[in-house]
Amino acid sequence: MIQSETPASLIMIFGATGDLAKRKLYPSLYHLFRKGKLAEHFAVIGVARRPWSNEVLREHVKDSVLTSIKDAENIEEFISHFYYQPHDVSDTDSYIELKKLANELDSKYSLQGNRIFYLAMAPEFFGTIAEHLKTDGLTDTNGFHRLVIEKPFGHDLESAIQLNNRIRKVFSENDIYRIDHYLGKEMVQNIEVIRFANAIFEPLWNSRFISNIQITSSEMLGVEERGGYYETSGALRDMVQNHMLQMVALLAMEPPIRLTPKEIRSEKVKVLGALRSIKVEEVKQYFVRGQYGPSTENGEHVPGYREEVNVNPESNTDTYVAGKLMIDNFRWAGVPFYIRTGKRMTEKSTKIIIQFKDVPMNLYYSSDKKLAPNLLVIHIQPEEGITLHLNAKESGGQMMETTPVKLNFSNNDIAGLNTPEAYEKLLFDCLRGDATNFTHWDEVALSWNFVDKISTYWENEKAEFPNYAAGTMGPKDADELLKQDGFFWWPIADLDVDNC
Ligand code: NAD
Repeated sequence: MIQSETPASLIMIFGATGDLAKRKLYPSLYHLFRKGKLAEHFAVIGVARRPWSNEVLREHVKDSVLTSIKDAENIEEFISHFYYQPHDVSDTDSYIELKKLANELDSKYSLQGNRIFYLAMAPEFFGTIAEHLKTDGLTDTNGFHRLVIEKPFGHDLESAIQLNNRIRKVFSENDIYRIDHYLGKEMVQNIEVIRFANAIFEPLWNSRFISNIQITSSEMLGVEERGGYYETSGALRDMVQNHMLQMVALLAMEPPIRLTPKEIRSEKVKVLGALRSIKVEEVKQYFVRGQYGPSTENGEHVPGYREEVNVNPESNTDTYVAGKLMIDNFRWAGVPFYIRTGKRMTEKSTKIIIQFKDVPMNLYYSSDKKLAPNLLVIHIQPEEGITLHLNAKESGGQMMETTPVKLNFSNNDIAGLNTPEAYEKLLFDCLRGDATNFTHWDEVALSWNFVDKISTYWENEKAEFPNYAAGTMGPKDADELLKQDGFFWWPIADLDVDNC
């Protein structure tokens, strides 16, 4: 049952000394604490390899909070709820020690046996930890037991099934919270509201009125120190299998009969099931891959992907993907959903552009001026907002003259509002037992099924890499993907809220 308040809980963070815990989890938990959203009865056990003490962890948590929040009120009280347990994930004795501490804290803070196990660790440990939690008795309490799992969930369908089978022996599907942090983003959550709470959009939200949808998620940074991980992943697995396909599902799904996790996820599953399956020989027709080469910025050398640390100098790994997805159902037949994502692109931005079809007859057409199509732009990050592009009469001009105008809503402009970090919302949801914004196994399986065909083809074909320079919007072939359908990528920088 979803609760409005967070119940008493013990949160165990596996990987407590790691980067994710430091940058995201501790500040998010602190935000919940400060807003009074964390139950008074809570405790956190940080679990990791290093031989830290409670005091060391508490100082570490304090530092991580103070890095992002300067006026951290009651920080001492907050960190007093943190405990540290040195641990080796494959050692039963470690779990027995952990259980002892968990039981003590359960009594000390009256936590009613409610437990959240957050696995902020490398994915190869997920299955082992889940199994030990059961066999070593950490799930032997009367309260709830929820498992939170970071991405990536598997490397392909086969490995995802294996991992799922292992964790399902311990946790029911309802108690598995697979994180896709895009689903915690304010404007990703807003997609549903924009669609289903406005009479003006839903009637037009189909193949009769929408010509194409474009989703761009671009990064300016390269792989930095994550080359080793990225070599085994690439942009397709790192971004498309999860975040990009999740955004497609939210944009394309039917209205759920009610706003419950079950109904919403079931509508998303139908979209993923309706994705046109691509045969190996068709991959080139629907997908373009890229890898950044070196460039120069302000006179400085910017390394190409193959020059990055822990990257094979002849690497075949994609740092960029563009694709055309077709959803073969009644609502979307014939409407391309174009997606693109990559590293070392021109700007850091995630935007969704819904391009409407042209009006049936253009009264305002003249030889030198065509009417611009209506666009609805959803700004996901870093800006958050919505822009609607319309045509209006050119002020003071002739009746025939039109000019594009933009209706702009910026979330960032709302006075005093700092939209919560995705992890804050997701942790809050998990504590309340709301799995809506976490990925269901069926979604994971369908997404891998779709992506596997592409990756299999790519892994067996040597690419002509590098094929785009750092600081650009990707390879030329990605433009061709749209050109052949009579479209083009809308220039992202021109659509920024500041330019609207
Ligand atoms: P990290 O390497 O910084 O931290 C790993 C943690 O695991 C450390 O606390 C380490 O002590 C612990 N650990 C490793 N081996 C262990 C063992 N044998 N026994 C006990 N503890 C062990 O990793 P990270 O960047 O924090 O990422 C953690 C997970 O979160 C990964 O699945 C990653 O893909 C995912 N993730 C991270 C980010 C991010 O921003 N860092 C973003 C999205 C997803």
